[in-house]
Amino acid sequence: MEHIIIAGAGHAGIQLADSLRTEGATAPITLVNAEPGLPYQRPPLSKDFLTAGEAPEMLPLKARRFFADNDITLIEANPIVSVKRAGRTVHLADRDSLSYSDLVLATGARNRTLQIPGANLRGVHYLRTAADATQLHDALATARTAVVIGAGFIGLEFAAAARARGIDVTVVEYGQRPMVRALSEPMSRHFATTHTADGIQLVFDESVTAFDGDGTRVRAAIGRSGERFPADLVVIGIGVEPNTELATTAGLSADRGVMVDSYLRTADEHIWAIGDCASFPCQQTGSVTRRESVQNAVDHARALARTLTGNPTEYHQLPWFWSHQGKHKLQIAGIADGCDHTALHGDPSTGKFSVLCFRDGVLTCVESVNHPAAHLAARKILASSAALTVGDVAAEGFDLKHAVR
Ligand code: FAD
Repeated sequence: MEHIIIAGAGHAGIQLADSLRTEGATAPITLVNAEPGLPYQRPPLSKDFLTAGEAPEMLPLKARRFFADNDITLIEANPIVSVKRAGRTVHLADRDSLSYSDLVLATGARNRTLQIPGANLRGVHYLRTAADATQLHDALATARTAVVIGAGFIGLEFAAAARARGIDVTVVEYGQRPMVRALSEPMSRHFATTHTADGIQLVFDESVTAFDGDGTRVRAAIGRSGERFPADLVVIGIGVEPNTELATTAGLSADRGVMVDSYLRTADEHIWAIGDCASFPCQQTGSVTRRESVQNAVDHARALARTLTGNPTEYHQLPWFWSHQGKHKLQIAGIADGCDHTALHGDPSTGKFSVLCFRDGVLTCVESVNHPAAHLAARKILASSAALTVGDVAAEGFDLKHAVR
């Protein structure tokens, strides 16, 4: 019997269930989630949720009635613990088992942890789930001095939120500049300048090797250099690891993510993987990639829904991303990886501008800050087959918005 089981009810899993029904799937759909409660949106957890007043609510991905209206079964707080490929069966933590015709792994990722002395002290936090965000929201009410480890998107979003709540914040980063893996150097430097101007202390070329405490609570983070960074609250934001165990224990390969082809199918024709947990062939870079973004999760899901309803669809959407760090709204279209030339579009001193990134003379990525119109234009340009060159954008009077064809 046909039965689609989706492991994980995050952005990817919920979108898949929704799109399957939109595409006309009539088979029973079961969404199995490890977390309790209604599936919720993750991006606000490091942004508005932290600065909101008392007891803010999670933003649900779908209202409760969506599941009944669409004949979708949601199983909460009961993860799939193993997959038996031979019998096409999954086993749940409560020992129940379910049979599938297709199984979709949408299990997301979990935080990479820092195993150093003092890591278990109270006041040391991570941020991934609703439970993490609720604890942090409450901790911010009494904290005075926070240390953030890692100047990536989540660390800096948290830092901006904590600063907005009047807390002294120090961000300690191993690299030489913020968001180094994802941003061009000019945009990265712009964010270093603006966060510093907002009163956040950024420390580069430093790593935290231990936490000091009073026996129970954290009091400071200790740097490799020996420097002591006082803290009554610590947030560790050093990246994530994909949840690949269901695949690997079932004999499917994973390499920084569950390996899938351009149709998002694993080596087993009845098992698929989407969202943060999947490593897929990226059309834009020509390499196998894993991405952590809502766009990637949602567009994977939409492509797979078409495939599972009889319209085989390869995934090749343009990547885009956003990060709100206090009043600085960053939006990225395309991929800055491998870029060898950048050009400014607009004036950084106004706080509203873009960095255009080129590889081999062709535009491959546009990073915009506080400029949604430029971002939307960039998405259209980069998704079209018309290539914009260094020469095009250097022309007198060039404007991204007018370059959309
Ligand atoms: P997830 O949303 O992680 O969902 C996976 C679900 O699967 C989880 O609920 C998990 O518990 C469950 N699960 C795991 N294992 C099992 C199992 N064995 N059985 C059943 N269920 C299981 N992206 C942006 O584009 N912009 C942003 O501004 C942004 N901000 C973010 C802020 C925060 C704080 C975080 C944590 C992420 C942010 N992201 C942002 C990233 C974005 O949220 C993720 O890329 C997106 O959630 C990925 O969706 P997913 O469905 O693949 O995984």
